[in-house]
Amino acid sequence: KIIAMKFELPKLPYAYNALEPVISEKTISFHYGKHHQTYVNNTNNLIVATEFENADLETIIKKTSGALFNNAAQVWNHNFYFLALTPDKGTKPSDKLLKAIESGWGSLDNFKTEFNKLAIALFGSGWTWLVKDKDGKLAIVNESNAGNPIVQGLTPILTFDVWEHAYYLDYQNRRADYVAALWELINWEVVSGKY
Ligand code: MN
Repeated sequence: KIIAMKFELPKLPYAYNALEPVISEKTISFHYGKHHQTYVNNTNNLIVATEFENADLETIIKKTSGALFNNAAQVWNHNFYFLALTPDKGTKPSDKLLKAIESGWGSLDNFKTEFNKLAIALFGSGWTWLVKDKDGKLAIVNESNAGNPIVQGLTPILTFDVWEHAYYLDYQNRRADYVAALWELINWEVVSGKY
């Protein structure tokens, strides 16, 4: 029996070198081409002959733990991260998202400062997220390792990958410099579409 490969690496809407100097071509080639690809391959291997063979990623993330959760969540998280980046400096938050951010943090700059503080404070590997709850209220949350807020019923709006593999080739131990620079690459049109 031949089993079709279910999950695929999403095509990036930019060239490997398009995010330089904030993220180098070398980082994209390892982070997307190797790490992300491996999570996709592992997920496809781990679902074989399980009840999740035909499940979507969200279902797998909500219903599993251990290796399958870790790999499937990492596929979802990396899809979300890479597809919300752009070399285009001209994107802006929608009026609706900007109002919600200003009501939560006073200003977009202040929100970024608070987001960066959490990203820098995350111990070890993980993800910093902007999420909304079922009432539409925004919050910044950290998740360790492969953690994804959809498990808690929250809606992800934006994420920063703060695993060392996301920045070590370009910034070594300077996570603060990576998160400060990453805002230049955020595609606010994509992010606003999640809110
Ligand atoms: Mn990563």
